[in-house]
Amino acid sequence: MMAGVLLGEKGLHVTVFEKNERLGKKLYITGKGRCNFTNDCSRDEFLAAMVSNPRFMYSALDTLDPQGVISLFEGWGLKTKVERGRRAFPASDKSADVLDMFRRQLRKNHVEVVLNAEVKEVILEEGRARGVKILVDGREKEARADAVIVATGGLSYPSTGSTGDGYRFAREAGLRVTDMRPSLVSLVCAEEYCKDLQGLSLKNVALHIKSGKKEVYSEFGEMLFTHYGITGPLVLTASARVGGMIGAKPLTTWIDLKPAVTEETLDARLVRIFEENKNKTLRNVLGELYPSKMIPVIPAVAGVDGEKKVHDVSKKEREALVRVTKHLPLTLTSLRPFSEAVVTQGGVSVKEVSPATMEAKKAENLYFIGEVLDLDAVTGGFNLQIAWSTAAVCAAAILDKAAQEDEGQAD
Ligand SMILES: Cc1cc2nc3c(=O)[nH]c(=O)nc-3n(C[C@H](O)[C@H](O)[C@H](O)COP(=O)(O)OP(=O)(O)OC[C@H]3O[C@@H](n4cnc5c(N)ncnc54)[C@H](O)[C@@H]3O)c2cc1C
Repeated sequence: MMAGVLLGEKGLHVTVFEKNERLGKKLYITGKGRCNFTNDCSRDEFLAAMVSNPRFMYSALDTLDPQGVISLFEGWGLKTKVERGRRAFPASDKSADVLDMFRRQLRKNHVEVVLNAEVKEVILEEGRARGVKILVDGREKEARADAVIVATGGLSYPSTGSTGDGYRFAREAGLRVTDMRPSLVSLVCAEEYCKDLQGLSLKNVALHIKSGKKEVYSEFGEMLFTHYGITGPLVLTASARVGGMIGAKPLTTWIDLKPAVTEETLDARLVRIFEENKNKTLRNVLGELYPSKMIPVIPAVAGVDGEKKVHDVSKKEREALVRVTKHLPLTLTSLRPFSEAVVTQGGVSVKEVSPATMEAKKAENLYFIGEVLDLDAVTGGFNLQIAWSTAAVCAAAILDKAAQEDEGQAD
């Protein structure tokens, strides 16, 4: 949609083929229906938020950066606002307004939109893209074109239309597609206690992941237990940063339930609580430190009988309780599936595509933009910005080429 608007604006004849019955099904569900369409951050912050191939984005960001997107959208009649963490949203909190803006601009710029039109194949002749074969109303048709832009998205949330067709188009053009895995996705854990903690949300905790001696992830924030493992902002970011290591490398993972205090301070606090409640059962005094769902779990993981009277808890057992509070162990076994992932990690190899134009190096006039490329970032509006920037640099390159061809003809 972005590439279509930018090309149509300059008078090029553009057709958008969308296999769904309407445009932007995924855009509609972004940001929990509010569409966190970019992040109003600096270039360095943007690059730091990217997980795969940040350097590939230099030219694309030079063409259209987050501030550029905000002013473009404002200019197209969308009121915007920036919230905590510089996340930008439509002022109405409605993703539908972003979609309406695109529909309006597409119409204004005379971009033809063909719905229920599934692209089956990119027509390649002598190493050049010449158009596409599409299936409309059960009939196969050919649409010839001077350039083909593949903007088919990744593999996540396939119900929105992103079923990975673009990877096939890339392979058919001889381009390499890297391995793909779900990202910004919940994690499956081996521990049975996750089931017991299902629904428990934790704020101000730290999640640590080590590979051997190296800490590969360490963040502070919010998370949630589910029947299969863990989810929430801390966990989604972890999936993006270390998802590829799960199952491939031995990882040590733990939650620090009290990151603001040291083991010594925590131990002193337990000593005080125990002194004030000597004759109570351990289970009954732990409520001072943990949410109720956690109370049976902590002593069980620490190997301490929760039914014990507090005066019978040994120093060693108390220390074990402290250790588990600071190091609640988790064993990450896998990522949840693509159908639940916010984005796809991996895709059309960026080595196969020119970063200044998005054109395939091995197939002239064939362009790849957005999530189909091996580009992804953490949450915060960065993934949509990747789509906008790659669309803009691609549109600029096609316009340049068209202008040069016009000049050539004039000569
Ligand atoms: C639940 C959820 C929430 C998200 N929230 C945010 C957020 O708030 N901020 C953010 O930055 N990112 C968010 N993302 C990620 C973001 O939505 C994607 O990265 C972005 O939409 C990718 O854009 P795209 O144009 O490359 O692909 P898509 O948005 O997936 O669009 C691809 C389109 O191509 C169509 N298509 C596919 N194959 C064919 C074919 N063969 N023929 C014709 N049409 C085809 C599809 O139907 C689809 O409409 C979220 C993702 C999910 C799943």
